[in-house]
Amino acid sequence: MRTALVADERVRIHSGLEVTGLQAAGERIVGVQVHRRAGAPELAADELRADLVVDAGGRASKAPTWLAALGYPEPPETIIDAQLGYATRLYELRARPDWKVLYAMGKPGKNPRGGVVYPVEGGRHIVTLVGYGGVFPPVDEAGFLEFAGALETPLCAKSWSTPRRAPPSTAIAGPRTACATTSACAAGPTASSSSATPPAPSTPSTARA
Ligand SMILES: Cc1cc2nc3c(=O)[nH]c(=O)nc-3n(C[C@H](O)[C@H](O)[C@H](O)COP(=O)(O)OP(=O)(O)OC[C@H]3O[C@@H](n4cnc5c(N)ncnc54)[C@H](O)[C@@H]3O)c2cc1C
Repeated sequence: MRTALVADERVRIHSGLEVTGLQAAGERIVGVQVHRRAGAPELAADELRADLVVDAGGRASKAPTWLAALGYPEPPETIIDAQLGYATRLYELRARPDWKVLYAMGKPGKNPRGGVVYPVEGGRHIVTLVGYGGVFPPVDEAGFLEFAGALETPLCAKSWSTPRRAPPSTAIAGPRTACATTSACAAGPTASSSSATPPAPSTPSTARA
């Protein structure tokens, strides 16, 4: 996708820039303020102007905060939460496995558990278990292995829990924050705006996941 975009002469990609805020003119967002990271190409100004500004900053986007700082009402959010959770830990396998990656998929409607095992640096393997619908993989030793044993592919658990294998090399980490959030940003008057006319909802949504 990036290759196709770069080949289009109407598209310019600015690398090494960090967006630090939005620029407003009247009731419109007309650009972004940017900070040039070390090593990034020189810029004529610390701002980029645009007819349309789309927030693609991901889940941690600061766009709602920046909009609020400009006096806009906070955009309403839609949260789609599949109740997805991960638990991950590193293992040192004593014997060299005869596979490169193990990936056990869940069975929608039947088994909401999945897992993946693959090699990382230092001769270790990373084991990530995932569950959805609130079936979170436990972060204690016994629960972790029990969950792994309930995957559709039992080999996934067998690969690191047989007696020949070395003990795990890290604690289990289990973030549970994988919901998708969509902020619907419609152009509108700022809190300090004197406009009495309701604005047209012309600006597209920003999606964060
Ligand atoms: C552990 C994990 C596993 C996942 N596994 C899967 C999977 O198997 N399949 C799947 O479909 N999805 C998966 N996801 C979800 C997927 O990664 C996200 O849904 C997707 O990356 C969201 O894309 P995005 O473009 O909206 O945001 P992002 O991918 O988060 O991209 C946002 C970009 O904006 C940049 N950015 C943010 N703020 C600024 C700023 N102020 N200035 C400049 N740049 C900025 C960030 O550096 C980043 O490059 C996983 C997520 C996690 C955390």
